[in-house]
Amino acid sequence: MEAGIDDVGIGILFGLADWRFEILALMQHIRHLEARFGVGPHTISVPRLEPAIGCDIAASPPHAVSDIDFRKIVAILRLAVPYTGIIMSTRETPNIRRETFALGVSQISAGSRTNPGGYAEAEANPALSSQFQLGDHRALDEVVRDVASMGYVPSFCTGCYRLGRTGQDFMDLAKPGAIKLHCDPNALSTFTEYLEDYAGPETRSVGEALVGSTLDNMDARQREISQALVRKVKGGKRDVFV
Ligand code: SF4
Repeated sequence: MEAGIDDVGIGILFGLADWRFEILALMQHIRHLEARFGVGPHTISVPRLEPAIGCDIAASPPHAVSDIDFRKIVAILRLAVPYTGIIMSTRETPNIRRETFALGVSQISAGSRTNPGGYAEAEANPALSSQFQLGDHRALDEVVRDVASMGYVPSFCTGCYRLGRTGQDFMDLAKPGAIKLHCDPNALSTFTEYLEDYAGPETRSVGEALVGSTLDNMDARQREISQALVRKVKGGKRDVFV
């Protein structure tokens, strides 16, 4: 950050030390970043140590975190750092990923490979493509459909980075919650782009219904902005955001 990087993500690899200590240390780190730079973490990741090739400690972590404590961790982070994105990786099972959405997770990956070169290797030999164990092996389209079925709009938005809305500029919007005025329309435009270009028929049908009901539930001004973006995407424009 001293060198000019204004957007940082932080996280803990859970399993190495007592998670209570890890969380308190993370909070101190966040306080320090806020006091020193005026900017807290853009995202927090919560990976749990998983069995990995050639790593004995990963097979039986000294401070393994139970599923119940893991849910607590997500809830604590959501309450303590309300402006940050919480990232859940494909290490976790579909069920844990579903449940933790309700507790505060905002970002997930899908269709991940964990080896350098793993995406290319996976085509030739799927068994070679894992450095550590994953809990969610579903394809992207299935994950997107699942998230949409729960009523959450899967957003592919990168608007802030594209517009240079990072660091202090991002925090000024994120801390009071005003970033929602950008996130909501952008979620609908980028999700519509996914539905138009990549989704299978079943996902498209679930997704279009969700876009419709989300628009219906917006206030008039947000609906107008969002509808304009969605119309542009349906008309063939790509990469539209506010
Ligand atoms: S506008 Fe887009 S990039 Fe910015 S915080 Fe919202 S979802 Fe993320």
